Amino acid sequence: MDTDEGLFFQRQIQVPEIGSLGQKKWRDSSVLIIGLGGLGCPAALQLALGGIGRIGLVDFDLVEVSNLHRQTLFTFKDLGLPKTEVVSKVLLEHCPWLQVECFSELISDETTPELLRGWDLVLDCTDTITSKYTINDLCIQKSIPLVTASVFRTSAQFAIFSGKGKPCYRCLFPNLKEGDTLNCSLGGVLGVQTALAGTYQSSLALQYLLDPNSTDLSSVYFMEWNPPTLYQSKIEANLDCPVCGNGKKETPSNFDEREIHPNEFLHIQKKGNTLLVDVREKEETDSHPIPGVFLLPLSELERGYLPNFDKELTLVCICETGVRSKKAISYFQSTNKVYSLIGGRRAYTQYLNNQPLL
Ligand SMILES: [Zn+2]
Repeated sequence: MDTDEGLFFQRQIQVPEIGSLGQKKWRDSSVLIIGLGGLGCPAALQLALGGIGRIGLVDFDLVEVSNLHRQTLFTFKDLGLPKTEVVSKVLLEHCPWLQVECFSELISDETTPELLRGWDLVLDCTDTITSKYTINDLCIQKSIPLVTASVFRTSAQFAIFSGKGKPCYRCLFPNLKEGDTLNCSLGGVLGVQTALAGTYQSSLALQYLLDPNSTDLSSVYFMEWNPPTLYQSKIEANLDCPVCGNGKKETPSNFDEREIHPNEFLHIQKKGNTLLVDVREKEETDSHPIPGVFLLPLSELERGYLPNFDKELTLVCICETGVRSKKAISYFQSTNKVYSLIGGRRAYTQYLNNQPLL
């Protein structure tokens, strides 16, 4: 480490958990960032400023005006330029010692395996289901730790996966299809939430590269905007996962059949004997209550609390955006007819009010 670099990281080296040894570990580490959008921009900058020695940048796109509100490394002067080129330049202006490699490529089964070769850790900063599955499957196959994140409007989630008996992205979301979650261009996205989620991705990557043994590899973190909320949900490896399961290649059960739209819910509710189960956490249900629900936070289900519902009752789980409710239904599969409400409270409220979301 030369003098300038030593001075640059001086304050960070003073942190007891990091020290010279930790800083050297980061200096010797390499991270491949796939997707240079709202997540990838802040993540790339924080990894470079954190002291990662070698950073790979993967993105096929050129900078557009609609990127600028959340893709924090681009300005108007960059319009039309390749994102990889602009990000590389900004990172090197901050950290001249950094080794940067650019790949202006699309993610695909054919090209991506080669891209992943020789990196210590991968950040998935893409926003399509297909890319996320492709990157997850390759990382698990190649035993490369993966930090993933996604943002929907004002809600974000992020996690780190390592395989090796720990869960992977497919364990968490076995059967997502394109369109199950809206990407930024379709659903809209709040810039500050993507910046926070991308920054958390870089933070998880730094933690893991500093000490993999002290990094929690069995959790997904959910972040909400108003009120500011961050909570952790434990996940387990799915033994039947087609990617990380014990050699089993069975197709996991199809959760899609157990999802219903708000209009379908209102239809079955009219028939009676239906209970809407709100699995959001207390702070969320306090700030945005849904009338007539049974409150049962997912965290309580995960702690083992399972109420004895009448077996004839049809349960419809609802959360904020329809992600956690998909998880919650697994707790009632053996006892009740159960559905997850697509789009969560936001879609439900919109449907009831017939007003634009947010
Ligand atoms: Zn898995």
